[in-house]
Amino acid sequence: MDKAIYICTGTCKAEISEEEYNKGLTKCGTQGCTHFGHAFEKRMKCHVCGAYYKEGEQHSHP
Ligand SMILES: [Zn+2]
Ligand SMILES: [Zn+2]
Repeated sequence: MDKAIYICTGTCKAEISEEEYNKGLTKCGTQGCTHFGHAFEKRMKCHVCGAYYKEGEQHSHP
């Protein structure tokens, strides 16, 4: 089962767990990141290859 995570889509590429996000870590706080101050985006993370994909998108392995 793949996990829901949150990522910064800017240059820092931070990955935030759903738990951290729910505790209030909802925006990028990395100085110098192109998305500093922007809200993280929700993604699903493949437990096989580690790729991110949007919720509702198909991602599978043969
Ligand atoms: Zn960032
Ligand atoms: Zn995968």
